[in-house]
Amino acid sequence: DINLSDRVQRIKPSPTLAITSKAAELRAEGKDIIGLGAGEPDFDTPDHIKQAAIEAINAGKTKYTPVDGTPGLKKAIIAKFKNENGLDYEANQILVSSGGKQSFFNMALALLNDGDEAIIPAPYWVSYPDMVKVAGGVPVILETDVDSRFKITPEQLEAAITPKTRLFVINSPSNPSGMAYSEEELAALGAVLEKHPDIVVATDDMYEHILWTGKPFVNIVNACPALYDRTVVMNGVSKAYSMTGWRIGYAGGPQKLIAAMKKVQSQSTSNPASISQAAAEAALAGDQQCVKDMVKAFKERHDYVVDALNKLPGVTCAAGDGTFYAFPDFSGAIAAMDGVESCTDLAAQLLETAEVALVPGSAFGAPGCLRLSFATGMDTLKEAIRRIEQALSK
Ligand code: PLP
Repeated sequence: DINLSDRVQRIKPSPTLAITSKAAELRAEGKDIIGLGAGEPDFDTPDHIKQAAIEAINAGKTKYTPVDGTPGLKKAIIAKFKNENGLDYEANQILVSSGGKQSFFNMALALLNDGDEAIIPAPYWVSYPDMVKVAGGVPVILETDVDSRFKITPEQLEAAITPKTRLFVINSPSNPSGMAYSEEELAALGAVLEKHPDIVVATDDMYEHILWTGKPFVNIVNACPALYDRTVVMNGVSKAYSMTGWRIGYAGGPQKLIAAMKKVQSQSTSNPASISQAAAEAALAGDQQCVKDMVKAFKERHDYVVDALNKLPGVTCAAGDGTFYAFPDFSGAIAAMDGVESCTDLAAQLLETAEVALVPGSAFGAPGCLRLSFATGMDTLKEAIRRIEQALSK
């Protein structure tokens, strides 16, 4: 028998990808499954972006690029950070990776020693704790609930900090909750972190553009500029430009840490795909109307879904600030159902009887909830809600 590493045995496969493939399996068996589990926009990648990739192929841009990204894409990223976020970076403070996921993975490996603690607010993107664990770190989870709109308080953060804390992760707007922290809330968290100079801050701004608070997007380093020297800003083109398959993410941050992340990448995957980089450059430097159109559709669906979920017995859904997820609390419904003890049971039951795939909140560290992705057409969403309602009334 083969002995696997302790490292790999510490982690589990991504639960969201697992639900998506389970739904695909059932569909292949002929079941009419509505998949609301996936974390990707349903729109096609905009044409001008595809065109840039086709041109890159035809121009022979099909070879290795610098490990940390092409000069053209890095220039577009630097301009994006400057113009949209008011953040100044030199080229050696930018790393382009094969997706936002790889950016975070590089960072975890570059930063954490065995036993180092990483503070992660729940509900969290499923991959943070496992990436921390692969790197030998220990995830320290901060719990929240629907009443706090799934946001942590400065007191919670302060209480979780120990001499071993090396990293604080913040994702706003959040996958899965859809909530964004206000500038004041971020400043209050930043004030706590200012007192602890050894903690690196990772702000995952992946859903920056999918936001409808009416206020400009702000991250923790905007709200607390004193953190600039120890904050890694992570972003990518996957969600904003409907480019999940192209695999381009990027990070801006302190030169020393970015160089270390680049070293990890140079010994694992090297540069991200050259063609995808050309497409990402067109996405960042091109017309941003495509983003606005998608966000408008997401907002309409959000309003419908939140309203419809709140009408279901035993379900509470707080209105989100952005993203394409709703994160309803089903604990009342779970308590009322025979043979359903947890959100995992409920998700299994809904897949079986209602043929709707949702991700249990426990996957995100928030049991009792389900994540519903509304990156799908309105008719499909209406049918999904109808089926869920029927299943709950049984
Ligand atoms: N960060 C968050 C919060 C996400 O939800 C995702 C994707 O699900 C990512 C990062 C990674 O995106 P990708 O690796 O597809 O660029």
